[in-house]
Amino acid sequence: MAHIIGLSGGIGSGKSTVLRMLAELGATVIDADAIVHELQAPGAPLLTRIAAAFGDELIRPDGSLDREGLGAIVFRDDEARQRLNAMVHPAVGAEMARRTQAAVEAGTAVIVLDIPLLYEGAKRGAGASAAFDFAATVLVWVPPEVQVERTVARDGCDRGEARRRMQAQLPIDEKRDLADYVIDNSGTPAETEEQVRALYRRLTGGS
Ligand code: ADP
Repeated sequence: MAHIIGLSGGIGSGKSTVLRMLAELGATVIDADAIVHELQAPGAPLLTRIAAAFGDELIRPDGSLDREGLGAIVFRDDEARQRLNAMVHPAVGAEMARRTQAAVEAGTAVIVLDIPLLYEGAKRGAGASAAFDFAATVLVWVPPEVQVERTVARDGCDRGEARRRMQAQLPIDEKRDLADYVIDNSGTPAETEEQVRALYRRLTGGS
């Protein structure tokens, strides 16, 4: 039987690193952000609907979405943001469900849905947590100060910018209280890999 897992982290916590490890063990990873981008690719029906609702000038001459322009519209306007979410979220959810079903039919043992705002949604009883019957949710955790260090090292931004980006998310220690499993990525990659392997074995019923 397939085990469908919801996974999230916080910026710089090592979500991408852990997803790579899970994929190497044989899990199918379904990436919510990548699906959002695909559904908004040039010519996609969702892109056409977004332009109809928020302005044709949001489509660039090469047919791609002007994400900054759209962001500027919805950033300060709650009603516009809700209208956008009402278009995007169902389309993304349906595509994730379709891919999950395909992986189930292919006989995949562990299917991991990579969802940036998994715990923000769970807290409101909305989003993917409500839509998918997860066997478990997983959080890739590091202490907030390590989040700052690793984000600065990876992105070359300053500490203030890293902290601002963290503040747009639920604090990682609050997510911790909502998760079924926590992968502590504050140690070495080898220590993380050991936890990921243990989790995978547990999910697939091995010892
Ligand atoms: P996220 O996807 O959660 O934003 P990443 O997986 O990109 O995080 O990890 C953030 C940064 O920290 C990356 O540069 C990554 O190589 C590094 N990193 C991840 N795990 C570890 C670890 N256990 N020890 C040291 N560096 C790590």
